[in-house]
Amino acid sequence: GEGELFPSGTLVVLVGPGGSGKSRFAAAFPASWVVNLDELRERLSDDAGEQSVTRPAVQLQDIVVSTRMKRGLTTIVDSTNVEASVRAGLVAKARAFGRPAAAVVFLTDLGVCLERNARRPANRRVPERVVRWQHEQTAAAVGLLSGERFADVRPVPPA
Ligand code: ATP
Ligand code: MG
Repeated sequence: GEGELFPSGTLVVLVGPGGSGKSRFAAAFPASWVVNLDELRERLSDDAGEQSVTRPAVQLQDIVVSTRMKRGLTTIVDSTNVEASVRAGLVAKARAFGRPAAAVVFLTDLGVCLERNARRPANRRVPERVVRWQHEQTAAAVGLLSGERFADVRPVPPA
């Protein structure tokens, strides 16, 4: 079952561009395990695409992660996490509570990500150049993750 995929109490950091399948992957786990920045933006502003509430949304994400790490509860960070600095903050948070971090990297083809992004409602769609940049950053992350103190790195191959 899903409880065997990651040791209990792991901080699971999804890494991938928009439309790569992160939220679909996360949906296989209990909803209480998953924290998603778009959902928090929507919770705070009624609009998942409202960037001006990113700061409080990140603060909420931080509270969720810290509280759950303290309690030893497996937690899945369902955001793009394509920047090494963002991942470093998440790994540090897990380690501060003595918990392991795992990275799951979504290697979905760029064309597939772009096509899915284009089909989304306007407030969930990001500019094509952003998806391209996120895809490049994800490819770069493949070589960086082993040096980032993740206990486990799992590639999700193109569907
Ligand atoms: P974002 O960062 O923008 O939130 P995401 O990585 O969470 O993107 P998803 O929402 O999981 O992407 O996937 C985008 C769309 O593609 C969804 O409609 C999802 O159902 C579909 N999808 C994802 N993975 C697959 C797959 N393996 N097979 C078929 N459809 C998929
Ligand atoms: Mg998503």
